[in-house]
Amino acid sequence: MPKDRADYASTRERPLGAWVQSVEDESPAWEAGIEPGMRIESVNGHELRDLIDWRWEADGASCQLEVFDPTDGGTYACELWRKPGEDWGIGFTDVLFDGIRTCVNACQFCFMSMLPSDARPSLSLRDDDYRLSFLQGNFVTLTNVRDEDAERIITYRLEPMNVSIHAISPEVRRTLIGPHAQRGIDVLERLLAAGIEIHAQIVLCPGVNDGSELARTLDWVEQRPSITSLAVVPLGYTRFSRRFSKSFSDDPDAARAVVKLIEPYQARARLRLGITRFQLSDEFYVAADMPVPPAEAYDGYPQYYDGIGMLRSFLDESAVVARDHAEELGATEKELARREITVLVVCGEAPRAAISFFSELWSPSGRVRAYPIHNDYFGGDVNVTGLIVSQDLLAQLPELLTNHVVVLPEVMFNFDHLTLDGDTQDHVMREIGRRGGVAAVAHGDPESILSTVTQSLG
Ligand code: SF4
Repeated sequence: MPKDRADYASTRERPLGAWVQSVEDESPAWEAGIEPGMRIESVNGHELRDLIDWRWEADGASCQLEVFDPTDGGTYACELWRKPGEDWGIGFTDVLFDGIRTCVNACQFCFMSMLPSDARPSLSLRDDDYRLSFLQGNFVTLTNVRDEDAERIITYRLEPMNVSIHAISPEVRRTLIGPHAQRGIDVLERLLAAGIEIHAQIVLCPGVNDGSELARTLDWVEQRPSITSLAVVPLGYTRFSRRFSKSFSDDPDAARAVVKLIEPYQARARLRLGITRFQLSDEFYVAADMPVPPAEAYDGYPQYYDGIGMLRSFLDESAVVARDHAEELGATEKELARREITVLVVCGEAPRAAISFFSELWSPSGRVRAYPIHNDYFGGDVNVTGLIVSQDLLAQLPELLTNHVVVLPEVMFNFDHLTLDGDTQDHVMREIGRRGGVAAVAHGDPESILSTVTQSLG
């Protein structure tokens, strides 16, 4: 791919550069006088593009820094020393210092092209930056990776890389991803030849890359052992999609066909390598009305955040919490009954059965309940907890919440405590309070839900 096809425009609001956010007390950086708000200009004479450069250049027992101090506009040289195993003590405002690389693709299934017009603007950031693949686990297509970037990945051993493959036939890839599709495969082949470990992903679109094309892609992956895991996730679509109006969630037979197609690949991988390697996201099993595989089939959950094994993990953790916290669960339920309190555990429609499994273990009398929110805002087949918006939540919660504890999933808020439709966590909690309820925010795991409810009871 020609170099100028990649779009390196920064979409960040923060200024570019290695800005210092925090300095640990008594660390080497603190001793050298570095303070939050300063900017590291270079390390041992090398400019920094990102956190990878920082880790690479400042790898030894000492380093020479050039530091810009905006309070007086001066740039100063300083030398830092550290003991073996000691951290420099610097935290940066970002992991990318030269801006994020955005994608050059036009994927048919891109969620960004199916958003309502009033969705939070940051949702439509089309990042496709190989550095975020290594540093944060983002999936990238590699279509905007230059030769020198590929060389850097190999030299610095930036692995595992998370790479979206989607399909292997050139014409199917072009249809799905756009005109730069071949560049992604060329780069991937180069990384694989160098032995870089890859976690791969396929977004499966009915009638496009499923069936015989999926089998071809799985055959291709099977022959490349450096791809240590492959996640197949179904297309998700909203009511704003102009291209798709059904997916595997609407078609149990199609979901079952995918489960059946992948099984021989899983069996061969277990036989030859001792790992399952080919993984399906939870939605396929739910749509096919089949039990999710046991924990050992998930190879230590390398693609958990891609929705691979979340359900199994939640069910198993529920059983562990029910066993290890039996006394606390029983005492909480008694207290709920005594005070006539009902707990509503808010979730998307997809994990309803899993939350119900835990709440029934906890409260056979029904004092604790899953409270699934139907996603009207995005519509389509969107049913996950992370995409619940404030307007659906508040429209679907009862108007009167006296004697209710409402457990809100932390994942429906971003780091700035905003919902996807731009409401604040504060406002959502106040609104629940206005209706007479008590709102509490919990992580999605059973232990956190239990401790959040216990705390809210005082
Ligand atoms: S790579 Fe494809 S799915 Fe990802 S942001 Fe770009 S167009 Fe959208």
